[in-house]
Amino acid sequence: MKILRLVILIVLGVILSDSSVFAQTPVQKHGHLRIAGKHIVDKNGAITSLAGPSFFWSNTGWGQDRFYTRGAVETFAQDWKAGIIRVAVGAENDGSILKDRRGNLRRAQTVIEAAIDNGLYVIVDWHSHRAEQDLGEAQAFFTHIAKRYGHTPNIMYEIYNEPLDTTDWNRVVKPYAERMIKTIRAVDPDNLIIVGTQTWSQDVDKAADNPIRGQSNILYALHFYAATHKEELRERAQYAINKGLPIIISEWGSVTYSGDGYFDIDSSIEWMKFAKRNGLSHLNWSVSDKNESASMLRPGASSNGRWTEKDLTLSGRLSREIMRNW
Ligand code: MG
Repeated sequence: MKILRLVILIVLGVILSDSSVFAQTPVQKHGHLRIAGKHIVDKNGAITSLAGPSFFWSNTGWGQDRFYTRGAVETFAQDWKAGIIRVAVGAENDGSILKDRRGNLRRAQTVIEAAIDNGLYVIVDWHSHRAEQDLGEAQAFFTHIAKRYGHTPNIMYEIYNEPLDTTDWNRVVKPYAERMIKTIRAVDPDNLIIVGTQTWSQDVDKAADNPIRGQSNILYALHFYAATHKEELRERAQYAINKGLPIIISEWGSVTYSGDGYFDIDSSIEWMKFAKRNGLSHLNWSVSDKNESASMLRPGASSNGRWTEKDLTLSGRLSREIMRNW
């Protein structure tokens, strides 16, 4: 019996020392997130900064909808060590959720549910540059998502990807956001809501000068493309942060703002230092094999993940390294 007990102890020791057996997922570790001051904090009140990928437009027939798979999410969770992912629900142009509700919803839900099963946070983004024109559709969509997933700690709502430069923060974007927040809060009282900002989610200074009042767990989107946006945009963001605005980089690229062009590793590293210094979370654009430099994947990469080095572009390799080491 003594020997049996010894064997049991040894086996138990091996199991406990193997961190993979008891490794916590990001959601197990951090639990329900909330906003405290200008930061995302976790269940223990610790400042929480997450890194992950953004999926491409979910639009039917655009080609990148094929990556909305459970296998892709598992690869980001296990191999890339992502803490968060972003579902870019196409809400304008051909094949969008306004035209093919079933297809886009099915893809979004596949990825959301895979994220929940893998213990990742997941941003559900209304990927539009004209969301105020489709307010009813956006309200119906987020009501559906909140009813289905608002009880989980995983979900974050991004209610307006990128308002245009001509879409005024004070007169259009903020009132839209206030209506959407009211809609979501009627179902889900607590999960984080991300508000897009004027000029393709760059004018966080305008939001800092006139933020949404009387609501909790709201934060604001800052998007950048490293080869285009540099010190000037960081200064604008720092101004907003210094005024106490909670910010998330819900989309960034290592290339120019078009999603194509020059791959700028030096500027990307400057931006990651900025994110680290300010405790910001960030999501890299994008999960795609389209022939443009922001794509993480080379043409023909598997829809179901398990990619190897040879499947990754420069952008994809940088993105994976950042996530694994964040
Ligand atoms: Mg909730």
